[in-house]
Amino acid sequence: MSQEGFRLLQRECINTGLCYECGLCAAVCPEKAIEIKMYDWGRNPELTGTCSCGSCTKCYDVCAAKIVPLAKMEKHFFGRNRKMDTVEKVGGVFRFVGTGCAADPEIRKVGVSGGVATSLMIFALEKGYIDGAVLAGYDQEKPWIAKAYVATSKKDVIACAGSKYQPHPQLLGIREAYEMGLKKIAVSATPCHAQSIRRMMMDPELQDIASIIKLVSCNFCAAHWALAGTKWLLKTWLNIDMEDVREMNYRTGAFPGTMRIRTKDGQLHEKAFVRSGGVAALGRFTPEECRICLEKVGYAGDVVFGDTWGHPVLPPNFDLFPPTEEQKKADPRIRHAAEKGLSAIVARSEFGLKLLQECRDAGKILMWENTPEETEAFLTSVAAEKPTWYGPWIEARKHRGMPVREYIL
Ligand SMILES: Cc1cc2nc3c(=O)[nH]c(=O)nc-3n(C[C@H](O)[C@H](O)[C@H](O)COP(=O)(O)OP(=O)(O)OC[C@H]3O[C@@H](n4cnc5c(N)ncnc54)[C@H](O)[C@@H]3O)c2cc1C
Ligand code: SF4
Ligand code: SF4
Ligand code: SF4
Repeated sequence: MSQEGFRLLQRECINTGLCYECGLCAAVCPEKAIEIKMYDWGRNPELTGTCSCGSCTKCYDVCAAKIVPLAKMEKHFFGRNRKMDTVEKVGGVFRFVGTGCAADPEIRKVGVSGGVATSLMIFALEKGYIDGAVLAGYDQEKPWIAKAYVATSKKDVIACAGSKYQPHPQLLGIREAYEMGLKKIAVSATPCHAQSIRRMMMDPELQDIASIIKLVSCNFCAAHWALAGTKWLLKTWLNIDMEDVREMNYRTGAFPGTMRIRTKDGQLHEKAFVRSGGVAALGRFTPEECRICLEKVGYAGDVVFGDTWGHPVLPPNFDLFPPTEEQKKADPRIRHAAEKGLSAIVARSEFGLKLLQECRDAGKILMWENTPEETEAFLTSVAAEKPTWYGPWIEARKHRGMPVREYIL
């Protein structure tokens, strides 16, 4: 009996606080020996079954919590490495950077910013590029807990719209899709999770499961926050016990969004999420894996979506300082951003760009390319946040001889 693979994973990634709770180690284990155990303060991969396949190290091989092979990944999936003398140095390889929104008012309403992520998934399904998408929904029995969901229809995709700011083993959904017999899937992932997906896709021994992945859709990411944070927020802000939640939405309505909860007694509870300091309050629940993360703009996604914080002509405070009619007339982005918010869009792979363009040409999304100056200012501003926030933490860990995530460029 060998447990070498899991022991390595435990020693280097799990016990060091680097694990970002993606669940991919469990998804690829041929013995289904790993369980992602859930605690209020985070998930933990634990060996609960029999690890008995000799020299297997599959769980360890897919994990990008310690080593992120950025250069190899870029070459493999985007055909080249980032140009270090341009804004790609911090923004990663890109073929397009811009903004957009869903054309369909229903999707616009449910999307957390512009709804482009949701529109693109529906388009890819309807055009037959994919037969399913691993998205993030909520557990049916405990609807306050985020959970991977395999969507196979427009209705499913719409039900999964919106950001789930919680760590959860999203990539277990890949195994679920595989076991459902799906042949072409998209996966929605945070930047760290996307790096694990890419490691799996580059591993010749894992092609059985990896070859069904056709699209990786990623989001910008400041952090996800332990479930204990959501519990605390619900109690402190809205005087709700988490177990009383029937429906949950972190950010809905006009940008930058309102936290909206329906409790089991049918009552609706709301509080502005960003403007009331939700993000700042959750900061104390930022797990260790995020405090050592330098990746904000999703380097591994075919397509990446974010909010427009930091965009030079779209300050995301139109709710506080509405633009004038002249401003709205001069730039359609300003009009749309003031209505409900826009999705920031980055396309990295050829396929990601083709899909976005087809989606736009089919009238499903509105999309505007940034000028080079806007791209430079925007990506520089977004990418600078992580080193500023987490740089000192990373240095402190290094100083104490503790491991940090290594990005190999
Ligand atoms: C944990 C997290 C942190 C983020 N941090 C930032 C940030 O700091 N700055 C910023 O500009 N943007 C951030 N975003 C991105 C932002 O919240 C929106 O996802 C993005 O603007 C896309 O908006 P949209 O309207 O196009 O997405 P929508 O149309 O609403 O679609 C969002 C898609 O993402 C999927 N999804 C939701 N949560 C998760 C999850 N946890 N893991 C995988 N898939 C998920 C949904 O199922 C849905 O398919 C973050 C998102 C997440 C999930
Ligand atoms: S980061 Fe993902 S693959 Fe690595 S140990 Fe954690 S759950 Fe497993
Ligand atoms: S993937 Fe292989 S090494 Fe890891 S737990 Fe499963 S059987 Fe053991
Ligand atoms: S901050 Fe980094 S580690 Fe944390 S969820 Fe986002 S991408 Fe993953």
